[in-house]
Amino acid sequence: MVPGSRLIPWETAVSPEQDTGKVDHPVRIESVGAKLRSEVNEMVRGGFLVLICSLALACGGGGGGGSAPVIPPDIGIPDPDPDPDPDPSPPRPEFIEDIVFDQTVPIDFGTRLTPFIEIAVPSDTISITVESFLSGSSVLMGIQDLTGPAGRVYVADRYGGDYTYREEAEIFSATIPNTDIEALGVFAGEYRFRLYVRSSFINGIRVRIILERRAGAVNELGQLPLNVWLAAGIPVNAGNAATDSRLQDVIREIFRLLNQNGVEITRGDIDYYDISNPDYDSISISEFDELCRSSSGAKKTRLNLFFVREVFGDGVVGASATVSGPKRNGTRNSGVAVDYTGVTGFTGTKTIGGIAAHEIGHFLGLYHTVESDGTHDIIEDTAECPANGTSSECSIRGGGLLMHWEYLGAELLTPGQGLVLRSHPIGGSND
Ligand SMILES: [Zn+2]
Repeated sequence: MVPGSRLIPWETAVSPEQDTGKVDHPVRIESVGAKLRSEVNEMVRGGFLVLICSLALACGGGGGGGSAPVIPPDIGIPDPDPDPDPDPSPPRPEFIEDIVFDQTVPIDFGTRLTPFIEIAVPSDTISITVESFLSGSSVLMGIQDLTGPAGRVYVADRYGGDYTYREEAEIFSATIPNTDIEALGVFAGEYRFRLYVRSSFINGIRVRIILERRAGAVNELGQLPLNVWLAAGIPVNAGNAATDSRLQDVIREIFRLLNQNGVEITRGDIDYYDISNPDYDSISISEFDELCRSSSGAKKTRLNLFFVREVFGDGVVGASATVSGPKRNGTRNSGVAVDYTGVTGFTGTKTIGGIAAHEIGHFLGLYHTVESDGTHDIIEDTAECPANGTSSECSIRGGGLLMHWEYLGAELLTPGQGLVLRSHPIGGSND
C-alpha cells in the first residue's frame, strides 16, 4: 500500500434527463467510489487499495507545491432567513454534545498502538465519535479494538468484529452507529478502545471522543448547519448567495431530500464564503485536499459544502472527502465538493441539489447502497439491488435510492440511513 493513498467517493451522473429522476443513457459508468465498501476488506489483507492518488506526495502531507486559496477571514455572511419555509416545524430536541476526551496520547514504539482509552457512556447517548488527528500527516490510522457494554465487540484486532470504518491519514473519524443494525448501536455503559498508527515514527496522536446526547436517547429529529463555499468562477458569491434564487433552490432541494421518509434532518444555519483563488474553479484531487483545508477560514465548525465549476473532470459531478468526515474544519477531509455549473451537462437545481445531498450522505457516514461490484451497504432497510439493471427486489435500476454508486437522479433515503445521518456530530448545534 502506498502511504497516504486514499479513496474519495465520487459520482458520475447517469441521468441526462434533467431533474426527472429517470434513469436514461449512462454517461459514464466507471466510478472509483464503487470500491468504497470493499476497500475495508481489502485492507484487512494488507494488500490492494484503489488509488486515486498514485503519488504519495499528491495525496497527503501538506507542504506540497499547491498554493492555498486566499480566503479573507471575515467574509462569512449569515443567512438572514435560515428557514424561509412557512411550514410549522416540529419542536426541536435539545442537542447536547459532550467532548468527553480530548488529549494527546502516546503511541507505543513497538506495537504502534495507543493505550486503551475507556469512557462511560450515559443512557441518553445517541452516538459516539472517535477521532484521531495527526496534523499534516500522510500516515494511515484507525481503530485497533473497540468494545462496549455486555461484551459487545465492535472491532477486534483491527478488522474483526462487525463495525465498519475506514482508516485515514491526518484525520480519522468514526461514529457509532454507522448502521441501523441494533446490536451495533449505542448502549449505556463502559466503552473501551485503542487506535493504531501505521508508522514507527509517530510517538503521539490527538484523540477526541464526542458524545451526542438527546433526551431519552431519542434520535428522531436532526438539523444540519452548513458552510457553503462558492468558487470564483460560478455565478453566485457570498454577497448575494442568500438571495440568489438558483442557489437557494439547490439548498432547498438538499434539505427536501434530507427531510423525507423518516430521515428528518432540517436546515440549520448557513454561512456563505467566497473561494477567491480561481485555481479552485476546477479542482484536481490534490487541490480538493487544499480546498478542504481552506475551511479553516470559516467561523464555525460545520459541514463544508464547496460549489465549484468542475470536480476532477472526466464526468465526475461530486465528491466527498471521505465516508464519515470529521467535525473539524481545516483538514484534508473537511468537506464535500459539487459541480455547480453543469460542465457535465447537468444544470438543473434538483440535480445539483441531489448530487450535493448524496455527497453529504457520504460525509455523514453513508456508504453506497450498492457498489459497482455488487457489494451492499450495512443498512438493513435499503433494498439489495444489483449494481446494474433490475431484480425482483428492485424493479427500477438502483431501487430509486439516492446513495446508489452512480448518481441516477434517484431520491430515496431510508429510515435506517436517517438514523446514521442524524448520529453524526456535525449536525445539531449551529456553532
Ligand atoms: Zn457516492
